[in-house]
Amino acid sequence: MAATANFICNASLPPQNHVFDSAKSAKSSLRIVETLVKSGPILSISSSPIESLRRGDWVKLICGASFEDVVDVRNLSLVYALAGVDCIDCAAEESVVCAVNEGIEAARGIVPVRRPWVMISVNDDEDLHFRKAEFDPEDCPPDCSRPCENVCPANAIGPSSHGLNASSETKVGVVTERCYGCGRCFPVCPFDKIRVVTHTRDAAATIVLLKRKDVDAVEIHTSGRAMTNSESTSLGQMPLPRLTKLNYNNWSIQMHALLGAQDAWEVVEKGYDESDATVNQTANQIKALKETRMKDKTALYLLFQAMDESGFEKIVGATTSKEAWDTLQKVFKGADRVKQVRLQTLRGELEAMKMKESEGISDYITRVQTMVNQLKRNGEILTDARVVEKILRSLTENFENVVCAIEESKNLEEMTIDDLAGSLEAHEQRKKKKNESLEEALQAKVSIKDKKVLYTQNFRGRGRDRGGRSNDRGGGGRG
Ligand code: SF4
Ligand code: SF4
Repeated sequence: MAATANFICNASLPPQNHVFDSAKSAKSSLRIVETLVKSGPILSISSSPIESLRRGDWVKLICGASFEDVVDVRNLSLVYALAGVDCIDCAAEESVVCAVNEGIEAARGIVPVRRPWVMISVNDDEDLHFRKAEFDPEDCPPDCSRPCENVCPANAIGPSSHGLNASSETKVGVVTERCYGCGRCFPVCPFDKIRVVTHTRDAAATIVLLKRKDVDAVEIHTSGRAMTNSESTSLGQMPLPRLTKLNYNNWSIQMHALLGAQDAWEVVEKGYDESDATVNQTANQIKALKETRMKDKTALYLLFQAMDESGFEKIVGATTSKEAWDTLQKVFKGADRVKQVRLQTLRGELEAMKMKESEGISDYITRVQTMVNQLKRNGEILTDARVVEKILRSLTENFENVVCAIEESKNLEEMTIDDLAGSLEAHEQRKKKKNESLEEALQAKVSIKDKKVLYTQNFRGRGRDRGGRSNDRGGGGRG
């Protein structure tokens, strides 16, 4: 069985006064790391994380699912990428993901290490990894010895965490970005002033992160409580209709039904007011708001999932399902109206099409099919049976007999355009051959007649000649 190893780094961080680090000091730190690395025996690492998994020595750096101090995250990523970790696991926040990738690229600028995977951690419910400590420093009694500062391994509490002198009298609370919810401070507060706050990662923002090329994996922390059984099974199994440039009307009908089945249509249509979230709410109201928020996020997630690349770009900034739905309606309804007008024109043109006397059947059928394809490209649904009927109704008189024969002997519902083209072309060939034979016969008749006339003329002429000659002969004998 393959073994994997995880390093959790926050716990070993010494207190750092880095919050106000300037870009200059970051650059000089990078130069120090470069010098250290180049003077040491660091080898370039080329085996992939997959190979490490196969060998059973896959190693992951865990920055912390809720640790968002981008300076530390970048530096940790740089050092651990140099050390050859296979994966760096970080909070699902854009700034944190950027910091991890910056650290990796900085490491690769020093020695050619291979890129570790970047993994984001998300949750769909309360989870220890996503909690943070919070307290209001104004509530703390002035005589408190501040034990919370001493136990915090992430330097998230105390003056130095805010870039102040240790002797500073300024009252400070927890630096949220640095707190990774280890929980050490909760029990040490003698006045019970520290609260636990759990953050649930936003599903829509997570999707945006997962679409990035520099995010390779996701770790999902779930209790399975976030969705009811019916929701989780039905969402997993349900194929989502995909919105394209041509199908907004049908797509919106299907999505309406699907969101209704998830009990989320109301929140998509009417939206909800998040600003009421904390103002004098009863427990039941807070619960109801939480449920509405969950429905909204589920609906927004489904809408994101139902987009192609260009549709996704149009609603990527939406924070509620209503906002996303309204944007799509605005964008695609306009396009739909233009499409409807175009469809009406094309339908009229198809209806007016007639075969010309000078036209071959194959050319005419190609002309009809070109028009049918244009209609289909604009979203029209045209069955072969409808096109077959259209062709039969619009042929020249030459095809009258064969049209009657086809209508009487074949099931037009089952006839394909190719079948019809075959029958009509065969008829056209037969007719052509018949006409040619008739023409030949007529020509033959004409030439026989001509010959006959000539013969008669010759015959009469010879008779006269003979008579003449006899006369001549007689005359000549005499003479
Ligand atoms: S939970 Fe408390 S001790 Fe732990 S990192 Fe946060 S502030 Fe520091
Ligand atoms: S131990 Fe409690 S009361 Fe004292 S400073 Fe920390 S949070 Fe405030």
